[in-house]
Amino acid sequence: MSAASIDQVKAAIRDIPNFPKPPVIFKDITPVLQRPELFRASVDVFVDRHRKSKPDVIVGIDARGFIFAGAVAYQLGVAFVPVRKKGKLPYKTIEASYELEYGRETLSMHVDAVKAGDRVVIVDDVLATGGTAATAAKLIEQLGSKVTECDFLIELKFLSGAAKLAKYSIFSAIAY
Ligand code: AMP
Repeated sequence: MSAASIDQVKAAIRDIPNFPKPPVIFKDITPVLQRPELFRASVDVFVDRHRKSKPDVIVGIDARGFIFAGAVAYQLGVAFVPVRKKGKLPYKTIEASYELEYGRETLSMHVDAVKAGDRVVIVDDVLATGGTAATAAKLIEQLGSKVTECDFLIELKFLSGAAKLAKYSIFSAIAY
């Protein structure tokens, strides 16, 4: 299998207008996942960033973030931690809520998921308005860990999500 480029990954991302509701243009990454060389390229772009100074933990965000974050953690040989939507985690949790464009969302994390002093990288598929990643970062910090970077396969720049993450380093592989 020959290595694919991020431009090839970008070309495979499918726009779905008005999903789940207007005026959202949903970035469908499933065609990327169907092609092993593209899935690998979209994991390696993150792995390459952290190979030298490995974080202690990769946090993936429910649900598409898990696909990339789990693979990145496996490749780096570091811990994987899920941040999940409310009501999904079985042990004791901390929670934080935030406003979405339409409605409200609550994220949760196990109280023992990260330790004080851990260096944590957050991985998700899309940075849109930034509320999701900012809330995940808040939970991680509440447990005493440090968010060293927030990584996204896709950033929707016109939604200015980076402004909500101004106090963190952010990296996005593909921008629109
Ligand atoms: P936000 O909190 O607005 O930055 O939204 C980011 C979260 O919502 C990510 O976990 C994405 O999976 C999802 N998301 C938001 N907008 C889109 C979009 N246009 N296409 C695909 N996923 C999106």
